[in-house]
Amino acid sequence: MRINVLRMVSALCACILLSACSDGSNDVLVIDDPREPPDCSYSASPWVGVPCGQDSDCAYAGGTCLRDVAGFPCGTCSMSCESLCPDRTSFPVTFCVDGLEIGVQEGGACLSKCDPRFTGNGGSACRDGYTCKYLQRNAVREVGAGVCVPGAEPATVTGCRAQLAQSGLVFTAVDFTATSPVGYPALTCDIIDPVLLYSPVDGVPMLHYQTLEVEPALASCAMAQATQSMVAIARSLGATEIAYTRFYQCDLINDTEALSMHGRGEAVDLLAVRLEDGSVLTVARDWERDTLDPATPGGAWLRRFTDTLWREQVFSVILTPDFNEDHADHFHLDLSPDTLFYQ
Ligand SMILES: [Zn+2]
Repeated sequence: MRINVLRMVSALCACILLSACSDGSNDVLVIDDPREPPDCSYSASPWVGVPCGQDSDCAYAGGTCLRDVAGFPCGTCSMSCESLCPDRTSFPVTFCVDGLEIGVQEGGACLSKCDPRFTGNGGSACRDGYTCKYLQRNAVREVGAGVCVPGAEPATVTGCRAQLAQSGLVFTAVDFTATSPVGYPALTCDIIDPVLLYSPVDGVPMLHYQTLEVEPALASCAMAQATQSMVAIARSLGATEIAYTRFYQCDLINDTEALSMHGRGEAVDLLAVRLEDGSVLTVARDWERDTLDPATPGGAWLRRFTDTLWREQVFSVILTPDFNEDHADHFHLDLSPDTLFYQ
Protein backbone atom coordinates (compact mmCIF):
# COMPACT_ATOMS: atom_id res chain seq x y z
CA MET A 1 0.00 0.00 0.00
CA ARG A 2 1.15 3.50 -0.64
CA ILE A 3 -0.24 6.92 -0.03
CA ASN A 4 -0.87 8.95 -3.11
CA VAL A 5 -0.35 12.56 -2.49
CA LEU A 6 -3.68 14.29 -2.50
CA ARG A 7 -4.19 16.49 -5.45
CA MET A 8 -4.49 19.16 -2.87
CA VAL A 9 -4.60 22.69 -3.48
CA SER A 10 -3.07 25.57 -1.81
CA ALA A 11 -3.55 28.42 -4.20
CA LEU A 12 -7.23 27.95 -4.79
CA CYS A 13 -8.15 31.49 -5.41
CA ALA A 14 -5.74 32.11 -8.23
CA CYS A 15 -8.49 33.19 -10.57
CA ILE A 16 -7.72 36.40 -12.31
CA LEU A 17 -10.55 38.74 -12.93
CA LEU A 18 -10.73 39.41 -16.65
CA SER A 19 -14.29 40.54 -17.01
CA ALA A 20 -17.60 40.32 -15.26
CA CYS A 21 -20.83 38.66 -16.31
CA SER A 22 -22.60 41.89 -17.10
CA ASP A 23 -24.12 42.61 -20.47
CA GLY A 24 -23.25 46.23 -19.98
CA SER A 25 -26.79 47.57 -20.08
CA ASN A 26 -27.54 50.33 -17.66
CA ASP A 27 -31.31 50.13 -17.34
CA VAL A 28 -31.25 47.25 -14.87
CA LEU A 29 -33.91 47.16 -12.21
CA VAL A 30 -32.03 46.80 -8.94
CA ILE A 31 -33.82 44.60 -6.47
CA ASP A 32 -32.66 44.65 -2.89
CA ASP A 33 -31.23 41.17 -2.61
CA PRO A 34 -29.33 40.27 0.57
CA ARG A 35 -27.49 37.47 -1.16
CA GLU A 36 -23.95 37.92 -2.35
CA PRO A 37 -23.83 38.10 -6.14
CA PRO A 38 -22.27 34.97 -7.65
CA ASP A 39 -18.62 35.17 -8.57
CA CYS A 40 -18.48 35.22 -12.36
CA SER A 41 -14.76 35.92 -12.61
CA TYR A 42 -13.19 34.30 -15.62
CA SER A 43 -9.85 32.62 -15.24
CA ALA A 44 -6.64 33.32 -17.15
CA SER A 45 -5.91 29.60 -16.98
CA PRO A 46 -9.35 28.06 -17.33
CA TRP A 47 -10.25 24.45 -16.73
CA VAL A 48 -13.33 22.28 -16.33
CA GLY A 49 -15.67 23.83 -13.79
CA VAL A 50 -14.66 27.50 -13.92
CA PRO A 51 -17.01 30.30 -15.11
CA CYS A 52 -17.26 31.14 -18.81
CA GLY A 53 -19.36 33.15 -21.21
CA GLN A 54 -18.50 31.33 -24.42
CA ASP A 55 -16.40 28.42 -25.66
CA SER A 56 -13.35 30.63 -26.21
CA ASP A 57 -13.25 31.37 -22.47
CA CYS A 58 -12.46 27.68 -21.93
CA ALA A 59 -9.08 27.92 -23.62
CA TYR A 60 -7.82 24.35 -23.41
CA ALA A 61 -8.02 21.46 -25.87
CA GLY A 62 -11.67 20.54 -26.42
CA GLY A 63 -12.92 23.24 -24.06
CA THR A 64 -16.61 24.13 -24.32
CA CYS A 65 -18.78 26.44 -22.26
CA LEU A 66 -22.05 25.30 -20.71
CA ARG A 67 -23.56 28.76 -20.79
CA ASP A 68 -25.55 30.81 -18.33
CA VAL A 69 -28.50 30.97 -20.75
CA ALA A 70 -28.57 27.15 -20.70
CA GLY A 71 -29.03 27.22 -16.94
CA PHE A 72 -25.42 27.12 -15.73
CA PRO A 73 -24.98 30.20 -13.52
CA CYS A 74 -22.05 32.27 -14.82
CA GLY A 75 -21.33 29.40 -17.22
CA THR A 76 -19.22 26.32 -16.58
CA CYS A 77 -16.27 25.20 -18.65
CA SER A 78 -16.63 21.60 -19.80
CA MET A 79 -15.54 19.30 -22.62
CA SER A 80 -17.04 16.24 -24.24
CA CYS A 81 -15.97 12.79 -22.99
CA GLU A 82 -16.65 9.09 -23.43
CA SER A 83 -16.27 7.96 -19.83
CA LEU A 84 -13.15 9.65 -18.47
CA CYS A 85 -12.03 13.25 -18.20
CA PRO A 86 -8.51 14.60 -17.76
CA ASP A 87 -7.47 16.22 -14.49
CA ARG A 88 -5.28 19.16 -13.69
CA THR A 89 -3.47 19.95 -10.50
CA SER A 90 -4.89 22.87 -8.55
CA PHE A 91 -8.42 22.09 -9.77
CA PRO A 92 -11.06 19.71 -8.42
CA VAL A 93 -10.95 16.25 -10.00
CA THR A 94 -13.27 15.96 -13.00
CA PHE A 95 -15.91 13.38 -13.86
CA CYS A 96 -17.67 12.39 -17.09
CA VAL A 97 -21.47 12.44 -16.78
CA ASP A 98 -24.28 11.75 -19.24
CA GLY A 99 -24.97 15.10 -20.89
CA LEU A 100 -28.70 14.41 -20.97
CA GLU A 101 -28.75 14.18 -17.17
CA ILE A 102 -27.61 17.78 -16.92
CA GLY A 103 -29.76 19.02 -19.77
CA VAL A 104 -27.06 19.46 -22.39
CA GLN A 105 -25.96 17.49 -25.41
CA GLU A 106 -26.14 13.75 -25.90
CA GLY A 107 -22.94 12.01 -24.96
CA GLY A 108 -20.62 12.64 -22.06
CA ALA A 109 -19.76 16.01 -20.53
CA CYS A 110 -16.97 16.72 -18.04
CA LEU A 111 -17.90 18.43 -14.79
CA SER A 112 -15.86 19.06 -11.69
CA LYS A 113 -16.41 16.94 -8.63
CA CYS A 114 -17.69 18.58 -5.46
CA ASP A 115 -14.75 19.17 -3.20
CA PRO A 116 -14.92 21.07 0.08
CA ARG A 117 -11.14 21.28 0.05
CA PHE A 118 -11.57 23.96 -2.63
CA THR A 119 -14.61 25.76 -1.30
CA GLY A 120 -14.39 25.43 2.47
CA ASN A 121 -16.12 22.85 4.60
CA GLY A 122 -19.82 22.83 5.40
CA GLY A 123 -21.23 24.30 2.19
CA SER A 124 -22.16 22.74 -1.11
CA ALA A 125 -18.51 22.07 -2.01
CA CYS A 126 -19.23 23.79 -5.33
CA ARG A 127 -19.15 27.28 -6.80
CA ASP A 128 -21.95 29.73 -6.03
CA GLY A 129 -25.10 28.70 -7.87
CA TYR A 130 -24.11 25.03 -7.95
CA THR A 131 -24.81 22.11 -5.69
CA CYS A 132 -23.36 18.65 -5.22
CA LYS A 133 -25.28 15.84 -6.93
CA TYR A 134 -24.40 12.17 -7.13
CA LEU A 135 -24.44 11.07 -10.79
CA GLN A 136 -23.33 7.95 -12.62
CA ARG A 137 -20.39 7.96 -14.99
CA ASN A 138 -21.33 8.20 -18.65
CA ALA A 139 -21.35 4.72 -20.21
CA VAL A 140 -20.16 3.10 -16.95
CA ARG A 141 -23.21 3.27 -14.74
CA GLU A 142 -21.73 1.29 -11.85
CA VAL A 143 -19.43 4.16 -10.97
CA GLY A 144 -20.76 7.37 -9.50
CA ALA A 145 -19.43 10.57 -8.02
CA GLY A 146 -20.62 13.82 -6.54
CA VAL A 147 -20.40 16.53 -9.21
CA CYS A 148 -21.26 20.23 -9.26
CA VAL A 149 -24.55 20.90 -11.08
CA PRO A 150 -26.73 24.02 -11.15
CA GLY A 151 -28.82 24.38 -8.00
CA ALA A 152 -28.91 25.70 -4.48
CA GLU A 153 -27.16 23.98 -1.64
CA PRO A 154 -29.47 22.25 0.86
CA ALA A 155 -31.34 24.92 2.81
CA THR A 156 -31.54 22.92 6.00
CA VAL A 157 -28.75 21.37 8.00
CA THR A 158 -29.71 18.19 9.81
CA GLY A 159 -28.63 17.67 13.38
CA CYS A 160 -26.33 14.91 12.21
CA ARG A 161 -24.61 17.14 9.69
CA ALA A 162 -24.26 19.91 12.25
CA GLN A 163 -22.49 17.43 14.52
CA LEU A 164 -20.27 16.27 11.66
CA ALA A 165 -19.29 19.85 10.90
CA GLN A 166 -18.51 20.49 14.56
CA SER A 167 -16.36 17.39 14.70
CA GLY A 168 -14.15 18.79 11.96
CA LEU A 169 -14.80 15.96 9.51
CA VAL A 170 -14.46 17.07 5.88
CA PHE A 171 -17.72 16.29 4.10
CA THR A 172 -20.51 17.71 2.00
CA ALA A 173 -24.21 17.03 1.74
CA VAL A 174 -24.99 15.47 -1.63
CA ASP A 175 -28.19 15.26 -3.67
CA PHE A 176 -28.80 11.55 -4.19
CA THR A 177 -31.58 10.06 -6.34
CA ALA A 178 -32.91 6.68 -5.22
CA THR A 179 -32.25 3.82 -7.64
CA SER A 180 -32.70 0.05 -7.87
CA PRO A 181 -30.28 -2.86 -8.21
CA VAL A 182 -30.04 -4.09 -11.80
CA GLY A 183 -32.93 -6.51 -12.40
CA TYR A 184 -34.72 -5.70 -9.11
CA PRO A 185 -36.98 -2.70 -9.75
CA ALA A 186 -39.02 -3.45 -6.62
CA LEU A 187 -36.01 -2.82 -4.38
CA THR A 188 -34.88 0.72 -3.66
CA CYS A 189 -31.41 1.92 -2.85
CA ASP A 190 -31.83 5.15 -0.97
CA ILE A 191 -29.72 6.98 1.57
CA ILE A 192 -31.00 8.93 4.55
CA ASP A 193 -29.19 12.28 4.81
CA PRO A 194 -26.53 11.39 2.22
CA VAL A 195 -23.05 12.87 2.52
CA LEU A 196 -19.71 12.52 0.82
CA LEU A 197 -16.98 11.84 3.34
CA TYR A 198 -13.49 12.98 2.38
CA SER A 199 -10.21 11.39 3.34
CA PRO A 200 -8.31 11.65 5.59
CA VAL A 201 -10.77 10.97 8.38
CA ASP A 202 -9.39 12.55 11.53
CA GLY A 203 -5.90 12.38 10.08
CA VAL A 204 -6.09 8.76 8.92
CA PRO A 205 -6.11 8.28 5.11
CA MET A 206 -8.96 6.08 3.91
CA LEU A 207 -7.72 4.52 0.68
CA HIS A 208 -9.80 2.81 -1.95
CA TYR A 209 -8.22 -0.59 -2.51
CA GLN A 210 -8.24 -0.49 -6.31
CA THR A 211 -6.90 2.95 -6.94
CA LEU A 212 -5.09 3.29 -3.61
CA GLU A 213 -6.22 6.84 -3.88
CA VAL A 214 -8.30 8.80 -1.51
CA GLU A 215 -11.74 9.54 -2.86
CA PRO A 216 -14.89 10.61 -1.10
CA ALA A 217 -17.13 7.88 0.23
CA LEU A 218 -20.90 8.13 -0.31
CA ALA A 219 -22.69 7.23 2.91
CA SER A 220 -25.52 8.24 5.20
CA CYS A 221 -24.63 10.91 7.71
CA ALA A 222 -25.04 8.34 10.49
CA MET A 223 -22.57 6.08 8.69
CA ALA A 224 -20.11 8.95 8.39
CA GLN A 225 -20.31 9.39 12.16
CA ALA A 226 -19.81 5.66 12.71
CA THR A 227 -16.83 5.75 10.34
CA GLN A 228 -15.29 8.53 12.37
CA SER A 229 -15.70 6.43 15.54
CA MET A 230 -14.24 3.39 13.76
CA VAL A 231 -11.23 5.39 12.61
CA ALA A 232 -10.71 6.75 16.12
CA ILE A 233 -10.57 3.20 17.47
CA ALA A 234 -8.22 2.03 14.71
CA ARG A 235 -5.97 5.00 15.37
CA SER A 236 -5.95 4.40 19.13
CA LEU A 237 -4.68 0.90 18.35
CA GLY A 238 -1.91 2.27 16.13
CA ALA A 239 -3.41 2.34 12.61
CA THR A 240 -2.11 5.03 10.27
CA GLU A 241 -4.00 4.08 7.05
CA ILE A 242 -7.12 2.10 6.27
CA ALA A 243 -7.99 0.43 2.94
CA TYR A 244 -11.62 -0.21 2.05
CA THR A 245 -13.48 -1.58 -0.93
CA ARG A 246 -16.83 0.13 -0.75
CA PHE A 247 -19.30 2.17 1.22
CA TYR A 248 -22.42 2.76 -0.91
CA GLN A 249 -23.22 0.25 -3.63
CA CYS A 250 -26.70 -0.58 -4.89
CA ASP A 251 -26.42 -4.32 -4.51
CA LEU A 252 -28.02 -7.43 -3.06
CA ILE A 253 -26.58 -9.55 -0.27
CA ASN A 254 -24.80 -12.43 -2.03
CA ASP A 255 -27.10 -15.37 -2.87
CA THR A 256 -30.19 -13.55 -1.63
CA GLU A 257 -32.80 -11.18 -2.99
CA ALA A 258 -32.38 -8.82 -0.05
CA LEU A 259 -30.88 -5.38 -0.37
CA SER A 260 -27.46 -5.04 1.23
CA MET A 261 -26.90 -2.27 3.77
CA HIS A 262 -24.40 -0.95 1.21
CA GLY A 263 -27.49 -0.02 -0.83
CA ARG A 264 -28.48 2.36 1.97
CA GLY A 265 -25.02 3.82 2.36
CA GLU A 266 -24.86 2.28 5.82
CA ALA A 267 -22.04 -0.24 5.44
CA VAL A 268 -18.34 -0.38 4.74
CA ASP A 269 -16.00 -3.22 3.77
CA LEU A 270 -12.49 -2.94 5.20
CA LEU A 271 -9.56 -4.82 3.66
CA ALA A 272 -6.39 -3.76 5.39
CA VAL A 273 -4.69 -1.37 7.80
CA ARG A 274 -1.19 0.01 8.03
CA LEU A 275 0.31 0.32 11.49
CA GLU A 276 2.71 2.88 12.94
CA ASP A 277 5.72 0.63 12.29
CA GLY A 278 4.83 0.56 8.58
CA SER A 279 3.60 -3.03 8.56
CA VAL A 280 0.37 -3.83 6.73
CA LEU A 281 -2.26 -6.19 8.06
CA THR A 282 -4.79 -7.63 5.63
CA VAL A 283 -7.95 -9.37 6.71
CA ALA A 284 -7.35 -12.09 4.11
CA ARG A 285 -3.87 -12.96 5.34
CA ASP A 286 -3.74 -12.01 9.00
CA TRP A 287 -7.18 -12.81 10.42
CA GLU A 288 -7.01 -16.06 12.36
CA ARG A 289 -10.25 -17.89 11.90
CA ASP A 290 -12.45 -19.28 14.63
CA THR A 291 -10.36 -18.31 17.62
CA LEU A 292 -10.81 -15.67 20.29
CA ASP A 293 -7.11 -15.85 21.10
CA PRO A 294 -5.04 -15.43 17.92
CA ALA A 295 -1.43 -16.58 18.07
CA THR A 296 0.13 -14.00 15.74
CA PRO A 297 0.50 -10.28 16.50
CA GLY A 298 -1.39 -9.43 13.31
CA GLY A 299 -4.23 -11.76 14.14
CA ALA A 300 -4.35 -10.36 17.67
CA TRP A 301 -4.48 -6.75 16.37
CA LEU A 302 -7.36 -7.47 14.01
CA ARG A 303 -9.29 -9.34 16.70
CA ARG A 304 -8.72 -6.52 19.19
CA PHE A 305 -9.97 -4.05 16.57
CA THR A 306 -13.25 -5.85 15.82
CA ASP A 307 -13.78 -6.68 19.51
CA THR A 308 -13.42 -3.00 20.37
CA LEU A 309 -15.79 -1.93 17.60
CA TRP A 310 -18.29 -4.40 18.97
CA ARG A 311 -17.85 -3.43 22.60
CA GLU A 312 -18.22 0.25 21.75
CA GLN A 313 -21.33 -0.53 19.63
CA VAL A 314 -20.06 1.48 16.71
CA PHE A 315 -21.84 -0.86 14.29
CA SER A 316 -24.77 -3.22 14.80
CA VAL A 317 -23.36 -5.86 12.46
CA ILE A 318 -19.72 -6.96 12.15
CA LEU A 319 -18.95 -9.80 9.75
CA THR A 320 -15.44 -11.28 9.64
CA PRO A 321 -13.97 -14.20 7.69
CA ASP A 322 -15.42 -16.40 10.45
CA PHE A 323 -18.91 -15.63 9.11
CA ASN A 324 -18.59 -17.10 5.60
CA GLU A 325 -16.38 -17.29 2.52
CA ASP A 326 -17.94 -14.14 1.09
CA HIS A 327 -16.11 -12.31 3.85
CA ALA A 328 -12.81 -14.16 3.56
CA ASP A 329 -10.92 -10.98 2.71
CA HIS A 330 -12.74 -8.17 4.49
CA PHE A 331 -14.64 -6.96 7.51
CA HIS A 332 -18.19 -5.91 6.69
CA LEU A 333 -19.40 -3.28 9.18
CA ASP A 334 -22.96 -1.94 9.01
CA LEU A 335 -25.74 -0.11 10.81
CA SER A 336 -28.62 -2.60 10.33
CA PRO A 337 -31.55 -1.48 12.47
CA ASP A 338 -33.01 -3.91 15.02
CA THR A 339 -30.09 -6.32 14.67
CA LEU A 340 -26.99 -7.04 16.70
CA PHE A 341 -24.61 -9.56 15.20
CA TYR A 342 -20.84 -10.14 15.36
CA GLN A 343 -19.10 -13.13 13.89
ZN1 LIG B 1 -20.09 -5.39 2.90
